[in-house]
Amino acid sequence: MYEIIDGKAISTEIKEELKVKVAELAEQGIHPCLAVILVGNDPASGVYVNNKKKACEFIGVKSLSYELPEETTEAELLDLIRKLNEDDSVSGILVQLPLPKHINEDAVLLAISPKKDVDGFHPENVGALCIGRSGFVSCTPAGIIQLLKRSNVEIAGKECVIIGRSNIVGKPMSLLMLRENATVTICHSKTKDLKEVTKRADILIVAIGKPKMITAEYVKEGAVVIDVGIHRLEGKKLCGDVDFDDVAPHCSKITPVPGGVGPMTIAMLMNNCVDSVILNG
Ligand code: NAD
Repeated sequence: MYEIIDGKAISTEIKEELKVKVAELAEQGIHPCLAVILVGNDPASGVYVNNKKKACEFIGVKSLSYELPEETTEAELLDLIRKLNEDDSVSGILVQLPLPKHINEDAVLLAISPKKDVDGFHPENVGALCIGRSGFVSCTPAGIIQLLKRSNVEIAGKECVIIGRSNIVGKPMSLLMLRENATVTICHSKTKDLKEVTKRADILIVAIGKPKMITAEYVKEGAVVIDVGIHRLEGKKLCGDVDFDDVAPHCSKITPVPGGVGPMTIAMLMNNCVDSVILNG
């Protein structure tokens, strides 16, 4: 019988712990503050930003909201980031992606001070992760490490296969699993015989962006399966990159969608916000 890894419960546990930490910092007169920048009217981005603001409220972190019109220029956005970098009362800065097409995302991410980069996307933080130094880590992969650890999944020495090599999920995930002493293989769209590789995994982490692509034939009996994908099907039901009903009976543990990796991303963002005030202190 498989066990469901409950991301909702684990993320709540983390946020409760952070709430205590934020209260302790407040007693010392230290207050984390997250500046959230949203450019344009993308409805999904609006929902994500609202969820982030709600999480800040829950753990007691102040959030500042900058909702800029679609026609905001890159120079205007960079100017706002510069001001926030210099503002000592702001400890973390987050620019909601995707940005409108006329704005260069790389230039924007590079402009955020690495010390305030709570998303962990700045090359300096990515480099720190790569060579095992401390720094902000991308929230989704950091959340997956917490899911595994808090579900008592042993990582060291295990065969871990990650499907997907994006800068936000797949690549940092591989570095974190390596840091935890797993034997790591990364698969991607050009991998030959994907099934043959994924069948070796004790821990299979799936971040492909294709609804229900991973079926039982990709999974070793007794594997732990982490599904990063999130898709809204017709009728508004959510599903992941893993065909849950087909795969779950073959796993020892598996994350559901919704209620698996998703809630962990925001919890780890909150964790980075709390760290940001310590780093900028
Ligand atoms: P991406 O599109 O940037 O990357 C997808 C990766 O999958 C690529 O590296 C590509 O090489 C690989 N891929 C594509 N088709 C493949 C195939 N047939 N076989 C093997 N590999 C293949 O996506 P991403 O940003 O990494 O996100 C992946 C999924 O995770 C999406 O569904 C996204 O919505 C979701 N996501 C969820 C969260 C969360 O908080 N739950 C966060 C980030 C992303």
